[in-house]
Amino acid sequence: MSDKVAIVTGGTRGIGLAISQALLDAGYKVAALYHGNKSAADDFEAEAGENGRAYKIDVGVFQDCIDGCAQIEDDMGPIGVLVNNAGITRDGVLHKMSPENWQDVINTNLNSCFHMCRAVVPLMRDRQFGRIVNISSINAQKGQFGQANYSAAKAGMIGFTKSLALESAAKGITVNAVCPGYIETEMTASMNQEVLDSIIRQIPVARMGQPAEIADLVAFLASEKAAFITGTTIAANGGQFTG
Ligand code: NDP
Repeated sequence: MSDKVAIVTGGTRGIGLAISQALLDAGYKVAALYHGNKSAADDFEAEAGENGRAYKIDVGVFQDCIDGCAQIEDDMGPIGVLVNNAGITRDGVLHKMSPENWQDVINTNLNSCFHMCRAVVPLMRDRQFGRIVNISSINAQKGQFGQANYSAAKAGMIGFTKSLALESAAKGITVNAVCPGYIETEMTASMNQEVLDSIIRQIPVARMGQPAEIADLVAFLASEKAAFITGTTIAANGGQFTG
């Protein structure tokens, strides 16, 4: 069994599953957090074998993250990598948006980063090593019609990344953000096909991305080789937005 432990939130489906698989391939033990989809969690555990475990932890609840990370350390060993990937959308124009749809998106996408980092950063500081990767979005960088809540949460992750990187650099911990463009997952499969087609016309490589194309980047940032990269935001969007 590997002695390097990585946590991937939302790690049993979509981009998160691809990240979990890439980290398993790189020799990590992976704790994949999920929220409600038990069958995807069971599939992940069955495929991952002894190096992968799924944990049902709501990243929107502070104490559950603190207790869950302590449990993961007990079960699997010292946490060296955290990938904050769990996310939801609740789209709608602002003038019709409910407070619930604002708060749910901020809580699951942004507050979760505080919850999870608050749990693991003290442990990483004690051990003088850590890798944190926050999965933001192209829509943090350029905005998107109907996503004021999501764009705000994802942009908040970028500021959070920069500040935590400054606080953590001297302790051997790197903190980076990745901004995927449109990637083929269940999140984008739920979008209206006409909207998706119009988005693909705006992507210079003329296609959506694959989860593995984000996962390989995250696996590099999680590696010891990436020690000089911190506080940065890396876009992987097929050239759709270069600003
Ligand atoms: P999916 O909708 O396919 O998967 C979301 C994952 O997050 C699931 O594993 C889900 O768990 C988990 N999750 C949701 N809420 C919680 C919660 N409260 N606690 C714990 N886990 C939770 O999303 P994608 O794979 O498409 O996206 C992954 C990340 O990438 C998200 O942050 C998303 O915003 C971002 N992103 C995605 C893009 C895309 O085009 N797909 C583009 C840019 C960014 P469960 O399986 O139990 O439901």
